[in-house]
Formats: sequence, structure tokens, C-alpha cells
Amino acid sequence: MLFENTIHRYNVITKKEVPMTKEENSYQMVLDYFDATADLLGLDESSRVMIRTPEKILEVKIPVRMDDGSVKAFTGWRVQHSTARGPSKGGIRYYPDVNLDEVKTLAMLMSWKGALFDLPYGGAKGGVACNPSQLSKSELERLTRRYTAEIISMIGPQKDIPAPDVGTNEQVMAWIMDTYSMTQGHAVPGVVTGKPINIGGSLGRKEATGRGCVFVLLETLNHLNLKNEGMRVAIQGFGNVGGVAARILYDMGFTIVAVSNSSTCLYKPQGLPIYKIEEYLTGEPKRTLNGFPDAHHLAPDEIVGIDCDVLIPAALGGMIRKENALSVKAKIIIEGANAPLTKEADEILSKRGVMIAPDILANGGGVVVSYFEWVQNLEALYWDENEINERLQRKMIKSFQEVVACAKERNVTLREAAYMLSIERLADAVKTRGLYP
Ligand code: NAD
Repeated sequence: MLFENTIHRYNVITKKEVPMTKEENSYQMVLDYFDATADLLGLDESSRVMIRTPEKILEVKIPVRMDDGSVKAFTGWRVQHSTARGPSKGGIRYYPDVNLDEVKTLAMLMSWKGALFDLPYGGAKGGVACNPSQLSKSELERLTRRYTAEIISMIGPQKDIPAPDVGTNEQVMAWIMDTYSMTQGHAVPGVVTGKPINIGGSLGRKEATGRGCVFVLLETLNHLNLKNEGMRVAIQGFGNVGGVAARILYDMGFTIVAVSNSSTCLYKPQGLPIYKIEEYLTGEPKRTLNGFPDAHHLAPDEIVGIDCDVLIPAALGGMIRKENALSVKAKIIIEGANAPLTKEADEILSKRGVMIAPDILANGGGVVVSYFEWVQNLEALYWDENEINERLQRKMIKSFQEVVACAKERNVTLREAAYMLSIERLADAVKTRGLYP
């Protein structure tokens, strides 16, 4: 993995990098968004009851034999928000402060995302409160296998399909797939996505979210009749999403004026040399963006107020808040991260006319290519990378255009439109299926 990436290298997930986030206490925020959208749609009471809260929540104790012979117990969760449109789908997070509210929030966002891209999926999410950087590889494997065993009644290729998220990676997915397969007596690659390629992973999956953000940016510029040339972009977070988006945009000729991680923000008005930054990060001894020559170094948070045309928050949730929203100079925001803007920040910036491509649209490339991975697994027929990227592009453009058309027709923001389309689709499915018994 080329990028500075806490997940793929089991680097230290410091307290700083762990979302101080609104994701932690953002459950009320997503419920508020849901209620507001339900009002806009005039959704009836029974549909609201069916959709507003998760279908299933499992909390599990995960006892793990540590390398020194002692036993430690961790707590984990799997939440299925909805299975009305198909099996539920969503990542698994490993980090110390993960909690049930956060998992419920993210499960709900996954339901909206699946519906927005018209995938045959509902939404789910999982989490284990642990710090993977403080576990040895074998402790991590035992924890993952025991967690899988504890949630095994919930998961399966036709039931609920996990994927990587903060603190987990393709190796963790391989262990989950193997544990599940052992209980079935045969290999079941479709039980997880984001697997290594040699056991059924898909080409293009690692880059999918960053690439999807780029497609959304290109469509946004096209929609606003703006040229790509001369566009100055700032990217917060240089991991799987931000790092990939930076490289693709750099290759396309965009000027990347700033990138940041948890320790610094690199700024160069004439444009940063993205490949040199990648080389610097992969060099020995292990380095972060700190100390990179040939750029100004600012405090990480300063990227929010950088002089640029496009801001891509691709780090953590809650990074743009009412305290710093007024400093934003960008006219376009592409939400690479989940919930990077608080509700107040969203209101401030929307009022100022900033065009905000919301998270469920902008970072949906990951779940779209996860869906392609699952389809390939079920068919046992694999596509080349060009085909995957072309299919991804078509899906991103279609959803973007639907959101823009809905926003125009109903005179709402892109976020409101994205929520309306998603919730309307989910409510339709719920209604068509009816209520059992
Ligand atoms: P990652 O761990 O690979 O990268 C996160 C980056 O954010 C790192 O560079 C880290 O240093 C940086 N960061 C942390 N704190 C920061 C701070 N205070 N200021 C600036 N940078 C900071 O994670 P990722 O996979 O790139 O995910 C980023 C976001 O995108 C998360 O919100 C995740 O939920 C969301 N997301 C990811 C995917 C995916 O496929 N990876 C899909 C959808 C949404």
C-alpha cells in the first residue's frame, strides 16, 4: 500500500487519529436528518417506524488469549439497520473508542448509501473496541476469529456482508472469510468484500472510494460549467481515500495545493508533488508527512481554511464544525469521509452557497465496487480493472445526476436530495414487502 495508512500497516492508531468525531455521538444527527427528510417526503407514520431504527443489534464479548498467556475480553457489535432491499452491507471498525451509537449511525448511513446507488443491499456496520496497533498479528487474528464466531448467526453472503473500515484491512477480511468458510465446509468468498485478490477480492476495490470522489468532483465541475484546468484542490487526510484521490487528481492535471494528516498540513500554492510525497512516506525509516521538504507546514486543522477552489475532507467525521466552517474558502466540498461536516457547519456553508457533495454520494465508490466484488464472487467470474472502473464511473455519474435533478426539482440541497432519494427507495421497498406476519 503506497499511502500513509493506519489501517493497512497496523500503524499506531493514536488517540488523536481516533475520531474525536461526531460519528461518536452523531446518532441523533442522523435521526434528525431522517426526520427532516421524512417530513419533506410526507412519509407516513408506519414507514417511519419501520425505517427509523435498526432491525437487529448484537453486542458480544470477545475473550482473547493474549501472547503472554493472559485472557482479555473485548466488546464488539454488529448492527443491521435494514435488510428490506437485500442483504445488509457494511464495514467493521477496530478502534478503542468505538461505541454502539457510532455503529448504529454508520449502519444507517450504509442503508442510505446502498439505496442511493440502487444496489440490492441494506445497511449494516460492525465494531470492536480495541487498538489493533497494540495487538500482535496473532492476537489480532484470534480476536477477529472469535468476533466472527460470535456474530456468525448474522452474517453470510445472502444475509449480511462485512467489509474493511477504520482499523481493519484485507487480512482481517481473509480471517473472517476463512472462519465463516470453516463452519460451512467450503470456501465462501462472498461473505466479505475488500478481501485480498488471491481469495476472491476485486481489482480496483482499494482505490474505489478515492476514484469515486474524483468522478463526483468531475461531474460537479461539469454541472457548474467550470473547467478542470487551474482548479486548486485541498485534501484533508492522506489515507486510503484522500491519498488515492490526490494521486488521480494530480495525474489529471489538478493543482493539489494542500494535503494533511493528523500531524501536519503540507501547503504549496503552486502545487504539491504528490508522487514525491508518496515516495517520502514509503521510504525508510518509516515517515509521516512531518518533515517533508519543499512545502510549508501548517497545523492539521488549517487545511479547512486554505485558499482553494475544492476541499475534500477525507479524514474523519466532525472535522468541519461551526467553529471553523466560516474560515472555509472553497466553493466546492466533496465529502470523502463519513459525516465530515457537523449539521451546523453544513447549514453555515450551504447558506453561503458552497456546493457540497454529501458523503453518501461522494464516498459511495467503495460500496459500489464492494458490490461488484460480491457479484463476481457469486458468479465465480472475474472482471478486469478497466471494466470495474468503467462500471464504477457509470454508477457514480448516474447517482450524481439523479441527486442533482432531485435537488433542482424539489429546491433542496444535494444532501437533502440524496437523503430523499435513498429514504424514498427504502420506504418503497418496505411498503412493497409489507409487514410480517
Ligand atoms: P485511513 O485511515 O486510510 O486515512 C485516514 C487519514 O486521515 C490518515 O491520513 C490520517 O492521518 C488522517 N487524519 C486523522 N486525523 C486527522 C486530522 N485531525 N487532520 C487531518 N488528517 C487526519 O482511512 P480511509 O479509509 O481513507 O477513510 C477516511 C474516511 O473515509 C473515514 O471517515 C471513512 O469512514 C471514510 N470512508 C472510507 C471508505 C474506504 O473505502 N476506505 C469508504 C467510505 C468512507
